Amino acid sequence: MFRKSGNRFSEKNMRKGKIPMVDRRLLLAGAGAVALLAGLRWLQGSDVEAAAAFEIQKSDSEWRAALTKAQYEVLRLHRTEIPGSSPLNQEKRKGAFVCAGCDLPLFSSETKYDSKTGWPSFYRPLPDAIGTSTDHVLLLARTEVHCRRCGGHLGHVFEDGPPPTGLRYCINGVALKFMPDAPA
Ligand SMILES: [Zn+2]
Repeated sequence: MFRKSGNRFSEKNMRKGKIPMVDRRLLLAGAGAVALLAGLRWLQGSDVEAAAAFEIQKSDSEWRAALTKAQYEVLRLHRTEIPGSSPLNQEKRKGAFVCAGCDLPLFSSETKYDSKTGWPSFYRPLPDAIGTSTDHVLLLARTEVHCRRCGGHLGHVFEDGPPPTGLRYCINGVALKFMPDAPA
């Protein structure tokens, strides 16, 4: 890895104590540089690294153009809709709740229940639909829930749900779109 660059490192420079640029960069690849890079990564925050991992990626302006203002504020800015504001609270038909950002099916109507919180609630997501992370608001650690495919923020999951899982996926209705099953 640490290759000798004799041709660039002239006798004259060595005598003057000068180090050619290429060698300075190689030297930077040492422990100090690793620590520096780790620090920079930390400063950029976990969102940057997480965003790089999602299958569907758009720039901020592309998301703004693709979503309504309310969808953008929840999916991309992690805001929370006013409880009781989503028409999906009253949605009782059979079907799938898909991501408003990328149309990935996230929850089945079979797992929807009335949590009386004012937000659409489910006890289980569809397989391979969501990802989670931990966020901290007012020192309270909560499990954030997002779309596995586009990273859009959906809501949170709590451990006070009904059987069979005991989980409550508390989801912003604006982050979802309802696709009713075709009539039989
Ligand atoms: Zn999505």
